[in-house]
Order: sequence, then C-alpha cells, then structure tokens
Amino acid sequence: MIDAHIATRPGSPQRPNEDSYAAVADLVVVADGATAPPSLGTGCVHDPRWYSRELTAQAAAAHVRGPGASLADILSAAISATAAAHTATCDPNHPGTPSSTVVMLRARHEALDWLVLGDATLVLETPAGLSTICDDRLFRTNKDLREQVLSTAADDPERPARIAALVDAQRNFRNVDGGFWVAASDPSAAHKALAGTEPISAGTTWRAALLTDGASAAVDTYSLTDWRGLLDLLDAAGPNALLESVRKIENDDPTAHRYPRIKRSDDATVAYLTGAPA
Ligand SMILES: [Zn+2]
Repeated sequence: MIDAHIATRPGSPQRPNEDSYAAVADLVVVADGATAPPSLGTGCVHDPRWYSRELTAQAAAAHVRGPGASLADILSAAISATAAAHTATCDPNHPGTPSSTVVMLRARHEALDWLVLGDATLVLETPAGLSTICDDRLFRTNKDLREQVLSTAADDPERPARIAALVDAQRNFRNVDGGFWVAASDPSAAHKALAGTEPISAGTTWRAALLTDGASAAVDTYSLTDWRGLLDLLDAAGPNALLESVRKIENDDPTAHRYPRIKRSDDATVAYLTGAPA
C-alpha cells in the first residue's frame, strides 16, 4: 500500500508556479523549472512552467509505456520528448533553453528506485536507516557570483543584475562534464543523475519526501528541524503545513538578512509518500 500526499505553491502570488509533479500509482516525479532572467534570452517561446509540466507529464507517460525501464531511461525519454515538443517553434540547443531539476521515486514489490537530478532533495527512511540525497554540483560552480547575490538585501536595487550575472555564468557549466546536470534538451543528462535502488521486504513500512529546493529550505536553510523531523512533521501535519511554516519564516525575514537566499520565497513542492503492509 502506498499513501501519497502532495502540496505545491508558488513563491509569489504574482508569478506562476514553475514547479510541477506527476503521480502514476507507483511512480512520483517532482520537477522545478529554472527561473530565467528575461534579459538573457532563452530561444524558446515557452517558459519554465511549460517545461516542468511537460517534463513531468512525459516522464509519467514514459513510465506507463515502459514500466520495466530504469528511472534514468524514463527521464531520458521524457527529456527527448519534451525537446521534440518545441523544436518547431524554439531552439532547444540555445544555452538558455528551459531546464528543470528532477526527483523521482518508484515503488516496486521489493525495492524502491530513486533518482535526483539537480538541487532537488530526496529523504528516504527504510528499516536500513535514513538517507538524504541532494545533488550539490550546482553549488560548486560560480561561488563568488552567488556570494555577491547573497550579500545584498532582497530589496536591494542591484540584486536583479547580480542574479542575472550569476544565471548567465551558470549557463557555461550547465550539462557539461565538471559542471552540473539538469533536465533541459540533452537526454544524456538523465544518466548523470544520482540514482539508486533500496531493497525492501514486501510489506515493509517506509517513508519518503520528494522536495524542490523551495521546500527543502525548511531544513537546509531555515533549520526548522532535521530530516527525520521533517518526515515526522509531514506525518503529523501534512505537506501543506510544512509549506506554510516555510512561508512564515520567509515573511518574517523579507530582506533575506537573517537567512541569506537568492529568492525571498521560491516555488515549493513536497510529495510525502509512505508504504505499509496492505
Ligand atoms: Zn519552447
């Protein structure tokens, strides 16, 4: 038996939510479209919201068509299908083509398959213990430019230009060896993801949280609790309560002084999944 609770909300009521998710019985995929400063260009008539929604839908479809495929193969097929969906109108090879982080979990009879691409987070608790998986390769690039953004207040007029400089520089490291990997137009990125399989006995009780960075901030930026505490909070109060707690912390720190961060509030999604004997 799998029990799934999912919540998502935009970082601001004035902007569309660029996160997306899809669930097909035994597979859940959560994606976070990367915000692109308008000044940089994308070669695309769509937006990050279109990309993340198309990608999650294509991943769900690929899973249904080939349920025995690895998660990397499913994601690779989804990236290819999403790129194909806009070649007629856009240039998917543009360095600013829309991209997305991805976290996936698939429950099989005696195993859990997982995949993390980009700065999404998976928290997984099985009888073997608790693991937290996040791909931090993005944060090993452009440290100086990121620091320049974080050293300005959220309402500083210089901030948008500093963010644009950071995003522009990041494009040089996107989907190249030695840089960081995200879903964009290169299907091989799926095979650069962190991925694994956790064996479980049939009927084992397990818990998992799939989080975009706007939601994992509860622990990795705001220290609201630890990762096990996050699962406990989700168990007791549900995903929506977690996202409300995150927003409260952010609203109490509108200039991002106490908790330095790129965005005052980011789109946030959490899928809380549990497995138990039927
Ligand atoms: Zn497009």
